[in-house]
Amino acid sequence: MKELKKLSKKRKPKSKPKLIDECATLLQKLVRLKAADHQGFVKCVSCGAVKRWQEMQGGHYIERRRIFTKLKEENIHPQCAYCNIFGMSNSAHCRENYRTYMIDMYGIDFHKELLEDSLKVKKYGLPEVRDMLADLKKRVKEQEDQLGSMMPTQEDEY
Ligand SMILES: [Zn+2]
Repeated sequence: MKELKKLSKKRKPKSKPKLIDECATLLQKLVRLKAADHQGFVKCVSCGAVKRWQEMQGGHYIERRRIFTKLKEENIHPQCAYCNIFGMSNSAHCRENYRTYMIDMYGIDFHKELLEDSLKVKKYGLPEVRDMLADLKKRVKEQEDQLGSMMPTQEDEY
């Protein structure tokens, strides 16, 4: 009985791939919060649609399954759901607009480097991922607080 009690109390630690995914999800949230104007609106980097940050997504420029660039903040920007889910894999126009945005924003050299990096193999250490997760949680919270304090109250909206 004693043994059982001990076992049930101990929670299984999260696996590294799960933690990496959590980091990516937080980054996808962070880039939208960072890009939001004082009313919480962000613009899709591919089609220019403007919506509240909660209705948008954090779209990877180089696809999320590429591990080296998966957690690179400069590889993720606000996109509408259509561009992120459908456009990036089906529309050359959508990809081209994102490419233009990347080059305007970071320069041609950075863009080239990012493409090269995306082909590299990356092995994250567990402490590295844990640190990154803690840092991202903190940054998301800070951005949310900042945005929250700027947002008009319900009363002001009418
Ligand atoms: Zn879009």
